[in-house]
Amino acid sequence: MDCLFCAIIEGKIPSTKVYEDDCVLAFKDINPNAPVHVLVVPKTHIESVDCVNEDNVDFVAKVMLAIPKVAKVCGLENGYRVITNVGEDGGQTVKHIHFHILGGEKLPVKLA
Ligand code: 5GP
Ligand code: ZN
Repeated sequence: MDCLFCAIIEGKIPSTKVYEDDCVLAFKDINPNAPVHVLVVPKTHIESVDCVNEDNVDFVAKVMLAIPKVAKVCGLENGYRVITNVGEDGGQTVKHIHFHILGGEKLPVKLA
């Protein structure tokens, strides 16, 4: 399987890590859209939110538990936004579930 984020998790492609535990990795987005832009991923390959099921939901839950820790490490005490894009219409470009953490400024454009 050819997956960019699995390659980053395995250390085959370098990244700037900001948080790591047994199940989760968080690293800086290569093309940031805010002063802080970090991607949080499970170390298990799941394609997107559309592929979450009873067997893999615990890995996603671990990501949810990590997100406030990542935000704290990044100094986002005034709030932040969490985004996950799903599929073609959602604008997902990397097919390994990931949660964008954006912050460090008052964020523009609120779609939801
Ligand atoms: P998506 O568009 O799938 O929601 O988000 C994919 C994100 O991965 C984009 O924000 C993009 O900038 C980021 N990205 C793509 N390639 C790399 C890479 O090689 N390293 C890092 N750190 N981020 C990447
Ligand atoms: Zn993957």
